[in-house]
Amino acid sequence: MTRHDAVIVGGGHNGLVAAAYLARAGRSVLVLERREHVGGAAVSERPWPGVEARLSRYSYLVSLLPAAVARDLGLRVELRRRAISSYTPRPDGGGLLVRTDAAPGEAWREFYATTARVGRRVFPTLTRPLPTRDELRAEVAEDAAWEALFERPLGEVLDATFPDDVERGIALTDGLIGTFAAAHEPSLRQNRCFLYHVIGNGEGHWDVPVGGMGALTDALARAALEAGAEIRCGVDVRAIDPDGEVRWEGGSAAAGHVLAAVAPPALAALLGEPAPEPPAEGAQLKLNMLLSRLPRLRDPHVDPREAFAGTFHVNESASRLQAAYEQAARGELPDLPPCETYCHSLTDPTILGPELRAAGAETLTCFVLHMPARLFGDPGAKERAVEATLRSLDSVLDEPIEDCLWRTPDGEPCLEARTPPELEAELGLPAGNIFHRDLSWPYAEEDGEAGGWGVETAHPRVLLCGAGARRGGGVSGIPGHNAAMAVISGRSAPRG
Ligand SMILES: Cc1cc2nc3c(=O)[nH]c(=O)nc-3n(C[C@H](O)[C@H](O)[C@H](O)COP(=O)(O)OP(=O)(O)OC[C@H]3O[C@@H](n4cnc5c(N)ncnc54)[C@H](O)[C@@H]3O)c2cc1C
Repeated sequence: MTRHDAVIVGGGHNGLVAAAYLARAGRSVLVLERREHVGGAAVSERPWPGVEARLSRYSYLVSLLPAAVARDLGLRVELRRRAISSYTPRPDGGGLLVRTDAAPGEAWREFYATTARVGRRVFPTLTRPLPTRDELRAEVAEDAAWEALFERPLGEVLDATFPDDVERGIALTDGLIGTFAAAHEPSLRQNRCFLYHVIGNGEGHWDVPVGGMGALTDALARAALEAGAEIRCGVDVRAIDPDGEVRWEGGSAAAGHVLAAVAPPALAALLGEPAPEPPAEGAQLKLNMLLSRLPRLRDPHVDPREAFAGTFHVNESASRLQAAYEQAARGELPDLPPCETYCHSLTDPTILGPELRAAGAETLTCFVLHMPARLFGDPGAKERAVEATLRSLDSVLDEPIEDCLWRTPDGEPCLEARTPPELEAELGLPAGNIFHRDLSWPYAEEDGEAGGWGVETAHPRVLLCGAGARRGGGVSGIPGHNAAMAVISGRSAPRG
């Protein structure tokens, strides 16, 4: 058995951030990753044999990675701002094009000025010890904004702000990414999801990692290795003892601290404890496509190279989102699945090989909302969901998207899809939830949490350092940073 100051179970981006911080602080660190490569849901891969396109296969945009973390770890990765924020076709055949940093109207400008003010105050707290609710409210120092974002269902605020169904829907999508919720539900899960989508680095911009998400993971792995951490892939950890022993088939290691960069139910299973809560089901379908050219649009007034450069919202008006939610909640596939597409190669052509670039090929990612895991119980469900999504896309195009798909050397169309159950099987995401669990409020809600780092468990030597930690979710590195700080500061007391 080897001994280390810290053993990190799971080599997703959060595990790597923790490894880099701890190794830079002089600790001996071992990272154990089950798959043959690090990165978890933050990777670039070539889905189609013989096709030189390296896609961000799962996550694709970065907003929540604190600039200070990138600086601390010396990450050499460019996060490129998109020139266009979004484009949304309207039912009348026109569309709404929103340029980055140019709001389309007064209500829009005021609303996002408020979220930006809140973001500038809340975001820096995410990498500090956990505040109480009152402390965070005092930090926000704006009663109306606090009530709008932290207390009243998002739907109420959006109803009062945006009379236009399409604008209201665009804003609402930030509350529904990876979160199966209705705009007005009292749980406020949609509010928490919204919050994390608008406060990134105090601005809420979602940037394209140049080279794809794998470039970020590679930079993190390099930072950890250069600082002296050891990373071992192909190691499926089977058990964690609260006293710091980690076991896998054919090996074990002893650690001062075990940092579990896995989902909370996975940590419970490794500790031999009951699952903390039933997993919140993932609610999205993700399609990756390679196109031979961008499709023509129904709206003749916009250039597809502009429309697809930002977030292209399809059937995401507030009323359509509600209709799709109700259908999916009944266990039915939505007729016109609301979805958003992104053409990353317009912002970052480096993800395509020279031949594809010369031929005018473009990537297209499609993230479909309100596709909960419950819809994928039978074998034909995935195919039906993909067909419905393509129909939804086609409803705003002037030609079928399938006519624009690039073909592999074997003649297969370049289109792949991932359902929530597939994400669970491939990456261990509980019920396919992209954030490991419902996103949490960024303040203490349980006894003994305040003043900690939001990563503590019932065992002083064991910390949660994946997306399921408080203030985790998304590609942020925040739980990784915070777990490392809990170790370095010596404050890793058990919770409760
Ligand atoms: C389709 C999709 C799209 C997304 N889009 C975005 C986006 O655009 N922007 C964004 O910010 N976020 C996005 N997300 C969310 C984001 O990717 C995740 O929240 C984030 O990557 C989680 O990182 P992590 O390091 O905490 O965990 P993970 O990435 O889940 O990594 C956990 C790692 O632990 C390993 N592991 C698990 N069990 C064991 C074990 N027993 N032994 C050893 N290793 C183990 C896994 O193999 C995995 O590598 C998306 C997620 C998905 C799935």
